[in-house]
Amino acid sequence: MSNPPLEILLAKPRGFCAGVDRAIRIVELALYKHGPPVYVRHEIVHNQRVVDDLRAKGAVFVEELKEVPNNVPVVFSAHGVPKSVFTEAKSRKMYYLDATCPLVTKVHVDTERHRKDGKELILIGHAGHPEVIGTIGQLPDGNMHLVGTAEAAETLQVENPEQLAFVTQTTLSVDDTSAIIAILKRRFPNIKAPHKEDICYATTNRQAAIKNIAQKCDAIIVIGASNSSNSKRLVEVAQASGCPKTILAQSIEEVEIGWFNEVKKLGITAGASAPEILVDQLLETLKERYDLVINESEAIDEDVTFSLPRALTS
Ligand code: SF4
Repeated sequence: MSNPPLEILLAKPRGFCAGVDRAIRIVELALYKHGPPVYVRHEIVHNQRVVDDLRAKGAVFVEELKEVPNNVPVVFSAHGVPKSVFTEAKSRKMYYLDATCPLVTKVHVDTERHRKDGKELILIGHAGHPEVIGTIGQLPDGNMHLVGTAEAAETLQVENPEQLAFVTQTTLSVDDTSAIIAILKRRFPNIKAPHKEDICYATTNRQAAIKNIAQKCDAIIVIGASNSSNSKRLVEVAQASGCPKTILAQSIEEVEIGWFNEVKKLGITAGASAPEILVDQLLETLKERYDLVINESEAIDEDVTFSLPRALTS
């Protein structure tokens, strides 16, 4: 008996961004150059498959610098770290490699510049995310307001409305963030915005790609980890753009068989920290159950790359 048909619409771009690619290569090159173990503070990127692969090559993942011995290389994750982490590493004379995405570093640099200009700073982002912890940690404690929702923007109390500036987490929903910024600008007309959008190109492009296919699909699977901010935002954007039956999963094992009932056209995308092999594996498993017709919907070309630290390339 033949399998039932299933049309697949692959969103493009999807999966790895330049910052994730660079962070993984930093760990791999450190392992190659120095040999294992190479310690990594926090998951280098939020994906279990990536972490497991690097662990198998000799990476050791820890949450805090105090868990790292003095005489081994340590890599800081793509999400960025508070300044106190650099201070501790320097005071212990550690050999560290900073895999912070350059687009997160740009936000850190802007934060410092605003502080020097005497601005009162607002960070739009989600409490507890490592990138937000890293950005807040660019300033001394208590020097940044964190705003996560439109409601919080409406009720925010500031000391000097004429001297405000804001920065944002790089992996937010473009639409939700626009709404928050609109509220802040209405309440504080002289607030200073970033020269260039802080939400990164990869987040923006993946959200545009999923919007492009959302209404054409009966259901969408976003491949990504439950702690991946940009992956969770893709689920929300797909749902808000016309495909309520959208789920986040790292692999097909996390999707119940019954979920596919009545699905004739399935959209697939992957968060910026999810490797393409997870998409391939999902398609392979679906091929065993369905007669697949696969199409790819291309919204935007990407050609961004970031250079590696000189310590690893010289
Ligand atoms: S999602 Fe954006 S900010 Fe985060 S690592 Fe990728 S390019 Fe950098």
